[in-house]
Amino acid sequence: MATNPFIPLSIPNFEGNEEKYVLDAVRQGWVSTGGAYITTFEKQLAEFLHIPAAVMCQSGTSALHLALVECGVCPGDSVVVPTLTFIAAVNPVKYQFAHPVFMDCDDSLCMDPVKLREYCETECERVDGKLYDKKNHSRIKAVIVVHVFGNMADMERIMDIADQYGLQVIEDATEALGTKYLEGRYAGQYAGTIGDYGAYSFNGNKIITTGGGGAVVARDAKHLEHIKYLSTQAKDDPLLYMHHEIGYNYRMTNVQAAIGVAQMEELPEFIERKQKNHEVYKELLRDCKIGKLLDFRTGTSANKWFYSFELYPDGISADQAIEKLAQENIQARAIWGLIHEQRPYREDTAYRIQRAAVYRERIINLPCSTQLTYEQMVRVADLLGSLWQ
Ligand SMILES: *Cc1c(COP(=O)(O)O)cnc(C)c1O
Repeated sequence: MATNPFIPLSIPNFEGNEEKYVLDAVRQGWVSTGGAYITTFEKQLAEFLHIPAAVMCQSGTSALHLALVECGVCPGDSVVVPTLTFIAAVNPVKYQFAHPVFMDCDDSLCMDPVKLREYCETECERVDGKLYDKKNHSRIKAVIVVHVFGNMADMERIMDIADQYGLQVIEDATEALGTKYLEGRYAGQYAGTIGDYGAYSFNGNKIITTGGGGAVVARDAKHLEHIKYLSTQAKDDPLLYMHHEIGYNYRMTNVQAAIGVAQMEELPEFIERKQKNHEVYKELLRDCKIGKLLDFRTGTSANKWFYSFELYPDGISADQAIEKLAQENIQARAIWGLIHEQRPYREDTAYRIQRAAVYRERIINLPCSTQLTYEQMVRVADLLGSLWQ
């Protein structure tokens, strides 16, 4: 019996110079943490983001960890984080033996600035310009803002709060490479370049991939330089093996960067396809009775990395919808389990989580690869339409 061809959720796209550059790196023998592809990739990324520099590393997770270290987050400090996110945005807080404080989302699925302000005002106190949680007296040093599924968080309000309360801002832009403001105070600025630090990921399912990989950017050039130093085992002397600090083996390899250089050449095209496909889905799903496709923040140009479909209450559940799609060989997925409910985080502070719990139940992600065809999107939309009883 013929089955419908498989439609994957999100797969890499290697239509460009990936093979050529990787072969070149291997033939040259530059396969490890030195080599010209790494610095080329760094230059390309910085140019794309309209900033002076970027530092390549092993993963988005290591990028976030380095940013936290550079923020001076120490054991016992607190860091405000979202609960609706991939867990890698939060784990590095624990690597530093610091406490996460879980925050709710707004309707963009990103951190809710209203609750963030409320938490700082009502649950914290300021001593000598520093912010402390009243209950556990831990100092709130930073906030990690995730640009969920490529949607820009409300950075104007979040930056105002951070300025007022003296918090450093780390942007987790691992899903949002290419997302930028078109209007307002940050017009022309990209996700990841607005706060003090930004982290990107080139994992297999992200908008561009190096297999595994990440990048850090920082507003202050000295901090970025120090991050690079930490990422390469904190070498103070190229020949004599002198180290004045504890470093990490977090540098990207030249083979990964060779793929990255090819992917950067295609990034504008990938973003364009993601944006166009989102429009196609929107049109196809306009009259759908079981739910609606979520939009991205107005006044921004989002990379539209993942497409979120919100199921209406009292209808088919997310689990059922995913199961029905799977039966037709279409891969969809649920949104993440809330992090404050996961075993390693149950003892930590969660501040009035409400919306995140609702979205957790109601959102599924639809196939969104850059190779997606019109016919495939019609199949997905038709199937969703057929689930209405
Ligand atoms: C992918 C992702 C990360 C981690 O990136 P890796 O490169 O896989 O380590 C962190 N945060 C979010 C929100 C992500 O989606």
